[in-house]
Amino acid sequence: MRMRRAVGYCEDGGCGQYGKGVFLLNQTSFECSTCHQSGKVVHEEGNFENEDKLVKEVQVSFDYNPELGEYRTIAIVRDDSLEEDHNTYHYFSPMVKTEKRAFVLAERILGSLNQQGKLPSDGSGALMKENLLTWDDTRELFRANCNAYFQTLRGTPLHA
Ligand SMILES: [Zn+2]
Repeated sequence: MRMRRAVGYCEDGGCGQYGKGVFLLNQTSFECSTCHQSGKVVHEEGNFENEDKLVKEVQVSFDYNPELGEYRTIAIVRDDSLEEDHNTYHYFSPMVKTEKRAFVLAERILGSLNQQGKLPSDGSGALMKENLLTWDDTRELFRANCNAYFQTLRGTPLHA
């Protein structure tokens, strides 16, 4: 079964959990543990712009704003060793909060995708051991989330 990661957001403005993210694995619905109302589920997702096997550019949308329902920022990494335009991969992750993380992720995705396409690689497809879960959790929960997150990378381009 394919793992699907997501973040659940409480949408009750009067609830203490409002706007805070909760890591979800393989869940399509979310109930806030504080107010017990169902909230919004935002999945991590990615798609290619066209059928081209070579990927020249990766765009990572990050810094999700649950109130507006949109990503505030996009990090773009291009491989300029490819002379012509090729494919662009768009990735959307409510788990990525900072520009630094977004660029690291974008570079890894680009490296991994082109490695699969048998392109020369700069070896940047390094082990994905940093995590992208930056919201406020207890240390134990945070660690558990990171482990769960890492497990989901097995068999994907992100798990080198
Ligand atoms: Zn709530």
